[in-house]
Amino acid sequence: MRRAIFPGSFDPVTLGHYDIINRGITLFDELIIAIGVNSDKKYMFSLEDRKQFIKEAFIDEPKIKVLTYEGLTVDFCKKVNANFILRGLRNPADFEFEKAIAHTNRKLSEIETVFLLTSSGKSYISSSIVRDVIKNGGDVSGLVPESVRIL
Ligand code: ADP
Repeated sequence: MRRAIFPGSFDPVTLGHYDIINRGITLFDELIIAIGVNSDKKYMFSLEDRKQFIKEAFIDEPKIKVLTYEGLTVDFCKKVNANFILRGLRNPADFEFEKAIAHTNRKLSEIETVFLLTSSGKSYISSSIVRDVIKNGGDVSGLVPESVRIL
């Protein structure tokens, strides 16, 4: 069983995440979307809403599960028996940041990080820009899945 987790804040899930999840699922038997809970961080959407947005977006995909976790990502991988971490890469800044995290996770565990490059046309999408558009009353269709738009 090839089980991976796709960790992130998903505040909210975007079409960038959606693309990585849809392509990532072809590589694994099960993909757990793991929403990290960081008590020091302020979120726009509640944990329950963030979870619901993803669940609804993938309601027809039985290989995808949505869970939340606190603490180290590698500890969560061990807990759910996942051998892979999936991450998306948008640009060189993502690469540098992700490289340090992946190396650290390798020091802490045997877990491999698998990277997928953003599809062309999705690399500019980020949750922080989406939050900004929402705060200012803009139209986020084209940036997020329908489950986020209908809230
Ligand atoms: P974090 O708080 O861990 O950065 P995010 O929810 O912002 O969590 O992102 C989770 C993962 O999704 C990361 O690997 C990030 O690089 C990836 N990601 C975010 N936006 C995009 C996008 N537009 N295209 C591809 N990957 C993306």
